[in-house]
Amino acid sequence: MMDSREFAGKAAVVTGAARGMGQRIAERLAEAGARVFLLDRSATVHDAADALRARGCTATAIVVDVTDEAAVAGAVARVGHEAGRLDILVNNAGISLRRDGRRITVEMAELAEWNLVMSVNLTSVFLMCRACVPLMRRTGGGRIVSIASQAGRTRSEVTSAFYSASKAGIIAFSRQLALEVGDAGITVNCVAPGAIATEMRKVATAEVDAAVLARTPMGRIGTTDDVANAVLHLASGASGFLTGTVADVNGGYFMA
Ligand code: NDP
Repeated sequence: MMDSREFAGKAAVVTGAARGMGQRIAERLAEAGARVFLLDRSATVHDAADALRARGCTATAIVVDVTDEAAVAGAVARVGHEAGRLDILVNNAGISLRRDGRRITVEMAELAEWNLVMSVNLTSVFLMCRACVPLMRRTGGGRIVSIASQAGRTRSEVTSAFYSASKAGIIAFSRQLALEVGDAGITVNCVAPGAIATEMRKVATAEVDAAVLARTPMGRIGTTDDVANAVLHLASGASGFLTGTVADVNGGYFMA
């Protein structure tokens, strides 16, 4: 059972924290005592941090595009300056590009679309980890949790091939990073959500939802709390011997 103040005294960074899963993960970490830095390219991330502070939590919003190398370095430097430590990094920002509301097939895809999705979903994870690991080493350890996707684990009826490739890339990257930073007490894991009710998933039709439910033993679409529960577990003190793994949060739709 997790202590309700499990993260007191810890500093955490969550990307893509203005809404959806990222916002909920940031809230849950803050409620459990962490000092949370909410990063997002959208200025509405200030509203998310304001709401947390209004409830007595310690939260700071930083507007940053996680694909921008210099901006990422600047944001992490600010975290180091203000918190003096970094215990938890949650790489959550991501996009699922569509054209005219439809999946972009490989034959119709533009190189610019491939590059955009790779940059937001995968290159950002590299940039964030590279900037954060030295601060975690100075802190004496840390937890890195990256949000991959079921689409990076198996076939998907809704995503584009480049989205799936970017998410599989996060998983492979995380395994290798786990090898490199274990000596510093830093664990590196992924959460691979299935269908989760957020803005991003509003594109799913009733037919797609029915097909997902028919194949899901738990018989429902996931919530942002389902994902946050897994992230908090991987970010907790109880997970010190768990590294290089993927937690499939999908109600049993896909079983490795
Ligand atoms: P949302 O689209 O609801 O939220 C994503 C947030 O990330 C938005 O606030 C978005 O800002 C921000 N963001 C996007 N690009 C950048 C960037 N370059 N720099 C900084 N912030 C950025 O997504 P979800 O909450 O649904 O998804 C969260 C993660 O979970 C993503 O990585 C997604 O791929 C993954 N996922 C989602 C699933 C689902 O069913 N919802 C299933 C599996 C994985 P803006 O509003 O400006 O775009």
